[in-house]
Amino acid sequence: MKSHARVVVIGGGVVGCSVLYHLTKFGLTDVVLLERSELTSGSTWHAAGGMHTINGDPNVAKLQKYTVELYKEIEEYSGQDIGMHMTSGLMLAATNERFDWMKSLLAKGKYAGGEATLISSREAHEMMPLLDPDQFVGAVFDPHEGHLDPYGTTHAYAKSAKKNGADIYLHTKVEDLVQREDGSWRVITNKGEIIAEHVVNCGGLWAREIGRMVGLELPVLAMEHMYLITEDMPEVIEFNKTTGKELMHCVDFDGEIYIRQERNGMLMGTYEKACRPWSPIQTPWDFGHELLAEDLERISGELEVGFRHFPAFNNAGIKKIINGPFTFSPDGNPLVGPVRGMTNFWSACAVMAGFSQGGGVGLALANWMIHGDPGFDVFAMDVCRYGDFATLGYTNAKVRENYSRRFSIRYPNEELPGARPFLTTPVYDKLKAEGAVFGASYGLEQPLWFAPAGVEDAFSWRRSTDFETVGAEAKAVRDSVGLMETSGFAKYKITGTGAAAWLDRLLASRVPAPGRMVLAPMLKDDGKLIGDFTLACLGEDDFLLIGSGVAEDYHMRWFESHLPDDGSVSLTSLNVGLVGLSIAGPNSRALIEKLTHLDMSDAAFPFMAIRKMDLGMAPAIVGRVSYTGDLGYEIWMKPQYQRYLFDLIMKVGEEFNIRLFGLRALNALRLDKSFGSWSREFRPLYGPLEAGLSRFVALSKEADFIGKAAAQKEKADGGQLRLRTFIVDAKDADVIGDEPIALNGKVCGWVTSGGYAHASGVSVAIGYVPKEVADEVEGWSIEILGENLSARLQPQALFDANGARMRS
Ligand SMILES: Cc1cc2nc3c(=O)[nH]c(=O)nc-3n(C[C@H](O)[C@H](O)[C@H](O)COP(=O)(O)OP(=O)(O)OC[C@H]3O[C@@H](n4cnc5c(N)ncnc54)[C@H](O)[C@@H]3O)c2cc1C
Repeated sequence: MKSHARVVVIGGGVVGCSVLYHLTKFGLTDVVLLERSELTSGSTWHAAGGMHTINGDPNVAKLQKYTVELYKEIEEYSGQDIGMHMTSGLMLAATNERFDWMKSLLAKGKYAGGEATLISSREAHEMMPLLDPDQFVGAVFDPHEGHLDPYGTTHAYAKSAKKNGADIYLHTKVEDLVQREDGSWRVITNKGEIIAEHVVNCGGLWAREIGRMVGLELPVLAMEHMYLITEDMPEVIEFNKTTGKELMHCVDFDGEIYIRQERNGMLMGTYEKACRPWSPIQTPWDFGHELLAEDLERISGELEVGFRHFPAFNNAGIKKIINGPFTFSPDGNPLVGPVRGMTNFWSACAVMAGFSQGGGVGLALANWMIHGDPGFDVFAMDVCRYGDFATLGYTNAKVRENYSRRFSIRYPNEELPGARPFLTTPVYDKLKAEGAVFGASYGLEQPLWFAPAGVEDAFSWRRSTDFETVGAEAKAVRDSVGLMETSGFAKYKITGTGAAAWLDRLLASRVPAPGRMVLAPMLKDDGKLIGDFTLACLGEDDFLLIGSGVAEDYHMRWFESHLPDDGSVSLTSLNVGLVGLSIAGPNSRALIEKLTHLDMSDAAFPFMAIRKMDLGMAPAIVGRVSYTGDLGYEIWMKPQYQRYLFDLIMKVGEEFNIRLFGLRALNALRLDKSFGSWSREFRPLYGPLEAGLSRFVALSKEADFIGKAAAQKEKADGGQLRLRTFIVDAKDADVIGDEPIALNGKVCGWVTSGGYAHASGVSVAIGYVPKEVADEVEGWSIEILGENLSARLQPQALFDANGARMRS
């Protein structure tokens, strides 16, 4: 065995072998893969080998497309047969609600060139005669679906990597990992030790245990999964004979099953509601090429529906039942990338669909390690999308929920109940008493809207039971004053003699003077957006940075990896150590004036001013800014003061008819102003000019901030896209995100977010279109639930276009 390597990949499942292959493909050949047994000895060997390109997240869909397209390459390069069967596939809907969901899914794929189409259940039956068309209302046909041989595929990756110079050591178990002073790793195995610059955890079923070797508790859990294989079926043989084709894959969402042809019979698998975690605390190291005990009883309900939907199964004998474990993260997406707070320790695990996603995971990881960037937007599978709230118990609750809902519809207004309530702020019960309907983000309960007694969210693709109330909340802000809780933002304290210089280099904006705030985009080297913050200077060498709550770990990883070594900058993520309340609306100044003796006039405390001050008896930090686009104040306080301040503001606000509002009203209000937000309008896909943020990018400042050269180039060549706001002639449903935007009938852009702008009384969609056509006013259409609705450009903000209300 080698004594040194640039990279040690732990685990020879489909994911580890893909990572190894991609590293070598991009020129890193001093790489080693260590496998405790034979290749495929984890979950890979018993996989059903199904693969497809459709995914609800367009960025993940791109990775799946890449994975499926890669198979030809590795088969040819390695000479290893991968047993590819490109059968094509159907997604079946048994209810109209499900069909609506499929339409929205399909629409999302359109701008990415998705080739799937909607068909009737009769057409589906013609393609796949085993299904009973009377059980379905329609289907989606996807030409890019099929299955392959898991063993052959894994070996094709491995052989290709070896051909490129990689070494693979079988029966070599990593027993411990010890970091050396220079950041490299001692990889201690049962066969000796390797010193590696980087370590990649592709441990699959044991990824959690490998994490524990370095003090990490990765949010990953294995679940038992069952499928059955039938004896030969005459219907299958007959179809093959008469058409010369294999039967296609089917996912029957309402039956919660998937089926495909397996030799002359069929394979049927299910994600059962009565799901069962496997080894929830500790995966046994001696688990080998084994199957788990079959338990048909547990999946009998799903099978019953499946047999009704595909009647030929009723006459088929069951040849084999496979029950094997495989891993999930809390949201079902992989955990990929460099782990925050660690040097040279990488994760590529929790890949639940290794044959749809394994190639993309390998590509992202290799890009990231070699070029410092995954090369595309991988936030949906970034290991940093979870913070320390994702404990073993949280993961267990969320993974079980995710598994049992694998084929369930997730409505846009649906908040899943698993692992909740978990993190709450001091005013949680007060908000609840006022009717708050909560959503959880980054583990924290946050008020979405305040429901009247007896009303709750009815989950739907269309406007729902919250519509009137959210409208009233938004209008209350515009008419007088509203109060909302804002603790869900991430808050970072940055102090020290080097703080200003560090921020100047890190952020594209100017660093504000004491008592002032600025909007601060953050770019990576290629000039794409990796953050949008409010940066506040509270005093000399004392800064507060406020950003997206869900990106806290993601941003901390970036900040920490760019901190100077000389100790001149101190950085702390405050999380709910600092909580927030915000008041907004034309009477918000009159209200805050009643809480302080200080002069709060525009002259004394102008737009974007910030200061520490007491409100009533409580010390707070007050900034004059509001994401509602109205006159407003963000108030930050230590948690022990939040209940007092909440009561005080509500009491004093009575004379202004103060009303509580939640995140949904906030969304409606920011749409009035075309304000973008992180993870929707602002993502690592777009440059600041494209995203309409160039006025916050201080190209003329002296500091050579990260991404400056690329931002200068974007300014010179104009980039490719423009973020635009459209008014949609919507009926009873508004955009959610990712819908296609067409100009004169031709799809050329996509929606990033939108909804009903209640105060303006219009349905709004925000999205990206090519810069060449971005100023066309008419001729636009946006697809909502399968219907093309006309839309027109809204060139200026719907509310307070000149900012007079916000600024005076
Ligand atoms: C019944 C069933 C059906 C499935 N069907 C499909 C399907 O149709 N399509 C699909 O895409 N996916 C399917 N899957 C999921 C698929 O199997 C996984 O996505 C995939 O196998 C994950 O691969 P992996 O490489 O991450 O993990 P694993 O296959 O678990 O590989 C991890 C490897 O790491 C090795 N290892 C762990 N610890 C160490 C250590 N300390 N030292 C050295 N080596 C170590 C293990 O021995 C193992 O070989 C199915 C899974 C099951 C159980």
